[in-house]
Amino acid sequence: MLTIYNSLSKKEEEFRPIQSNKKVGIYTCGPTVYDYVTVGNWRTYTLGDIVNRVLIWNGFEPTYIMNITDVGHLTGDNEGDADTGVDRMEKAKKREGKTAWDVARFYGDDFQAGYVKLNLTKPEKFTKATEYIAEQIDLVEKLEQNGLTYKINDGIYFDTAAYEKSGFTYGELSNLKDIKAGARVEFNKEKRNARDFALWKFSPKEEKRDMEWDSPWGVGFPGWHIECSAMSMKYLGQQFDLHIGGEDLKSTHHPNEIAQAQGATGKAPFVKYWLHGAFLQVDGGKMGKSLGNAYNLHDIESKGYSPLALRYFYLTGHYRSPLNFTWESLDAAASALHKLYRHYIELGEDIGEADKGYIDRFGKAINNDLNMPQALAVVWELLKDMDIPDEVKKATLLGIDKVLGLELGKQKNEPLPQEIANLVSARDQARKDKNWLESDRLRDSLSSLGYEVSDGDTGTTIFKK
Ligand code: AMP
Ligand code: ZN
Repeated sequence: MLTIYNSLSKKEEEFRPIQSNKKVGIYTCGPTVYDYVTVGNWRTYTLGDIVNRVLIWNGFEPTYIMNITDVGHLTGDNEGDADTGVDRMEKAKKREGKTAWDVARFYGDDFQAGYVKLNLTKPEKFTKATEYIAEQIDLVEKLEQNGLTYKINDGIYFDTAAYEKSGFTYGELSNLKDIKAGARVEFNKEKRNARDFALWKFSPKEEKRDMEWDSPWGVGFPGWHIECSAMSMKYLGQQFDLHIGGEDLKSTHHPNEIAQAQGATGKAPFVKYWLHGAFLQVDGGKMGKSLGNAYNLHDIESKGYSPLALRYFYLTGHYRSPLNFTWESLDAAASALHKLYRHYIELGEDIGEADKGYIDRFGKAINNDLNMPQALAVVWELLKDMDIPDEVKKATLLGIDKVLGLELGKQKNEPLPQEIANLVSARDQARKDKNWLESDRLRDSLSSLGYEVSDGDTGTTIFKK
């Protein structure tokens, strides 16, 4: 039995899909492609991946959709009150001297490349907001017909009071504190209520936007929230099973998605289970572009770590607890991963039958609200268990890796090329001489040749990235 914590009911619940045929619809809010995706964002996308894998482990058949926000996400949208600030894409285009379309393509491609490197479950579709403008306009029209919109100077807004009058409660996912916090930010005084949010924004008169479209209300672009309701319902239906995002989305973005969908269809709940991942911190504090610690996958790779070491690091924390990223913690994760690879390789070539006891225990851990740290502990216990023959261990690990996604099956015992072996022994010597500058230089050389070095308790290990 799979249990997960549902942010909607605020308790752990047994997972039971809406349909009886094992089909499950899942949607994860994806990145805004105005810059590189950060290690914080990747933590949330890895949660989406784990949910998919755990569902498959349990015999379900997920259809996975993830959006790519390439228009309409304003700089103020994550700061309490929606609809303040400028479009992140427009800001990035000025920064980079490109068009908004080029910015979206560049960071969108980079995101998809990173997605593969982290071995994340490929969605049925990555839906780009700019490719579903008609669907978003349709949805706003539906809301208009239902009397849930009004027009002000800068756009068409969702009327939360009218929505509540029609029998729904606005803001079920957030607590009152979050909603009040919204009032901290200076909000557009023309709005009837601070909680109301833009569905369609008019292009500013003084500025020509790269991204704008005709609509029944005038030329403009969609508000940030409408894309997720429109695109998820297009592929997963008016009501579906699971919706995932980072915990910050609980206060406005997700309540707004719910209000838009339920306001248009009259059906509740829009989504049965809402899963929210706790934030990744860096060096014990907030991660942010302005703090210079919003690391991305390129930073990880250029320091010689493989993205799968980052994946292993994510698995060491429970998704509902904050996880602290430091270079030391990533290094520890890389060492553990390499130790796991080494153990796996040493099990030899034969593959037997998986051990039922360990598979069951691993299954219990992942089904216990996706307790990946507990699941990893089962893996280490298995490796140390002297009573389990190597070929059984190997089969069990391969079964387990369908959820861990660490690519154990690809690990092979290949001799190092001579040039690499020479660099490794030169580095060993430099370490013996305590010449750290030289050993770091040699680590960088190895890294640029595609080899990752990890100094663990049991010595140095070299892996092909
Ligand atoms: P954004 O590009 O800001 O819209 O964020 C995309 C996704 O990443 C959302 O689900 C956010 O909740 C999530 N996210 C942003 N920052 C972090 C972080 N530090 N840790 C985990 N998830 C994050
Ligand atoms: Zn969303």
